[in-house]
Amino acid sequence: MEESKIYEGLKKYFRFDKFKSELQKQAVVEVCQRKHDVLISMPTGSGKSLCYQLPAMLHEKMITIVFSPLLALIKDQIDHLLALKIRAASLNSKITVSQREALIADLKSTSPNTKILYVTPEQAATQTFKALYTNLYNFDKIAFLVVDEAHCVSEWGHDFRPHYLRLGELRIGVKVPCIALTATANVEVTNDIISSLKLAEDRKLFKTSCFRSNLYYDVFYPNLLEDPFRHLRDFINECLNVKNETDLLKKNKSCGIIYCRTREQTEMLMERLNKLGVKALCYHAGLKNHERQDFQEKWQNGDVQVIVATISFGMGVDKASVRFVVHWGSPKDPASFYQETGRAGRDGKPSKCRVYYSRSDSKAIEFHVTQDLGKAGSKEGKKKRAEVAMKGLKLIIEYCENPSECRHKLFSNYFGEPPPKCKKNCDFCENKKKVNEAAELFLTKSIQ
Ligand code: ADP
Ligand code: MG
Ligand code: ZN
Repeated sequence: MEESKIYEGLKKYFRFDKFKSELQKQAVVEVCQRKHDVLISMPTGSGKSLCYQLPAMLHEKMITIVFSPLLALIKDQIDHLLALKIRAASLNSKITVSQREALIADLKSTSPNTKILYVTPEQAATQTFKALYTNLYNFDKIAFLVVDEAHCVSEWGHDFRPHYLRLGELRIGVKVPCIALTATANVEVTNDIISSLKLAEDRKLFKTSCFRSNLYYDVFYPNLLEDPFRHLRDFINECLNVKNETDLLKKNKSCGIIYCRTREQTEMLMERLNKLGVKALCYHAGLKNHERQDFQEKWQNGDVQVIVATISFGMGVDKASVRFVVHWGSPKDPASFYQETGRAGRDGKPSKCRVYYSRSDSKAIEFHVTQDLGKAGSKEGKKKRAEVAMKGLKLIIEYCENPSECRHKLFSNYFGEPPPKCKKNCDFCENKKKVNEAAELFLTKSIQ
């Protein structure tokens, strides 16, 4: 398909003049060919839906079937498409009998009006759907089979849906390209997606690199520091470019997040910082709703630059000018560490991600995971989740206690990517000797 035709469709159906990214464009161009299965792995918000919706519109006489895990997600998509005057519909248990009859009649007709059909995985297992599906396929009417939120096929992921596993069966003997979409997934999840959905050997992969070249990663050990709190204060001031008292009183767009494991730690650290002249608030599940809202707003507006939070903070945080993210204690696993530090430097400017590592914290996490593992007993799902958590924690402990490579490699390994060109954007690449010496000293002290 010619590029001009694709751009025409982009404007005509979706009213966009350009693609959101080069990767989005490449994915659309590839999907449009209908030659290969395609796996698209891009972060939330990067416009994955368009990668099948535009090709769906450009294959005029065909239907695209989309499997999506939740009715709420389906409803959002359909409302959005209907507003664009695109004929989208959903076959699910919530529609009325007459809606259902009309839809089925349309899908059975010689030239259906429906362009994009959304189906839950549960619905996909029903006889009604299977009959419609076979019929559409026999008349060569299916343009694409799309699996949205494809990580749901994997028990290694966080929202495993047993019914997703059965979607692969629909592909047996069916020659229609499959388009799987997921937010950035780790190696195991990606492999599960490929095998469960039976993506062909010659599949094409479109994946955003996990490397964030503007983030500087390092690790410090509070038990080796003369005064860890002053050390943290100085780090904060350096990141926020605070040089003197008057700077402190100004409204500052730059800001930062400090993550702690427990509520008590957040409160303690907030007090310490306040005493040292840093305006900080804390945020955790023990606060009243209005307090939490108020604190988040103050931070969002720039009235307060530093928020000391448990990991419950961050959902929906979308502030571009986060200059630093500190983990006070220990991160939990590479995936959450990546996500939490990923809140820094969204504006592309240099930002820092520091761990003030303490073994008591990683031990506490280990203790909880071990407990979960014990409690899981014969429950396979629970056991697997606990095993995944333990594996993740081990990688973090290695990262903090035995640094042996570029910090960014923690993530590239985890997400199955080649090592990034760090260019001294971590303590290890900047000064390997210093990092090794500190780690050695830490280990010696920890044994005593
Ligand atoms: P994802 O599924 O990757 O989380 P969505 O498909 O929901 O992302 O898209 C996120 C937002 O990006 C939507 O509001 C969508 O309309 C918008 N978007 C997608 N493609 C483009 C584009 N080419 N130009 C501008 N906005 C776009
Ligand atoms: Mg999506
Ligand atoms: Zn590095």
